[in-house]
Amino acid sequence: MLQLEHVSAAYPSGFKLQDICFETTEGRITGIIGPNGSGKSTLLKAICRDVPAQGSVKVQGKDLWRMSVAERARTVAIVPQNIEKLPVPVLEFVMMGRTPFKKWHQLSYSEADRALALEKLRQVGLAGDAKDENALKRTLDQLSGGERQLAAIARALCQEPQLLLLDEPTANLDLAHQVSVLQVVAKVVSETSTDALLVIHDINLASAFCHNLLCLSCGKMAAAGETDSVLARDLLEKVYGTGLCIGQHPLNGRPLVLPQI
Ligand code: ADP
Ligand code: MG
Repeated sequence: MLQLEHVSAAYPSGFKLQDICFETTEGRITGIIGPNGSGKSTLLKAICRDVPAQGSVKVQGKDLWRMSVAERARTVAIVPQNIEKLPVPVLEFVMMGRTPFKKWHQLSYSEADRALALEKLRQVGLAGDAKDENALKRTLDQLSGGERQLAAIARALCQEPQLLLLDEPTANLDLAHQVSVLQVVAKVVSETSTDALLVIHDINLASAFCHNLLCLSCGKMAAAGETDSVLARDLLEKVYGTGLCIGQHPLNGRPLVLPQI
């Protein structure tokens, strides 16, 4: 699905993302882990060429950087780390996902755009039979952090992309909302032909939800592959610079990574 070959990027501050090569597999959630400042957000930006980048980024064999705006929007959608608290009704915010497909003379959204936005709001659980009216009326700044994250996912899904990129979708959320946001991502990946690549800080949530992981350290790839193979104690201790112990989750059997405290 997504294929990165020798992707590099650099900031004037001196930070370099260096020679990232990896592929995601269809129907899977891939997580990007690594310490603060290791280049996780920069990698997502490099994929979308929001920062100057070199190398090659292909989706289903097609060069993402050579696509038209509409084709790129249909291929990849990004849910950014900080979603602005705009005083915009949720439905309108979600419909903004259709903007790349508008012609210059189309100023307003169509009934089809509205129906799609509502469908995506339902898919992420922000609208349902009883909730439709509320979902239409509330503005983005009136939502909780978790709801705003779900609205941003619904907006990205309105692009009907093949690949969803999410930058720390669980940051600043409580435990229940972290789980519900990741469950929505897992549902989208299992029910549609959209795959997900997400930056995730919490290694244990990554362990539970991601099929594959890419681990970054100082802008370089430290490891990539099946989640269980990346969650190795020696590797993680080196990357995070702290003593760790790795156990097993008592309910789901997934690797459980805990600091040595
Ligand atoms: P992560 O998402 O892994 O925490 P980032 O990709 O945001 O890390 O940042 C990697 C490094 O690049 C950090 O040292 C950060 O300070 C630096 N950096 C991020 N954005 C910019 C920018 N726009 N200009 C200059 N340096 C930046
Ligand atoms: Mg980041």
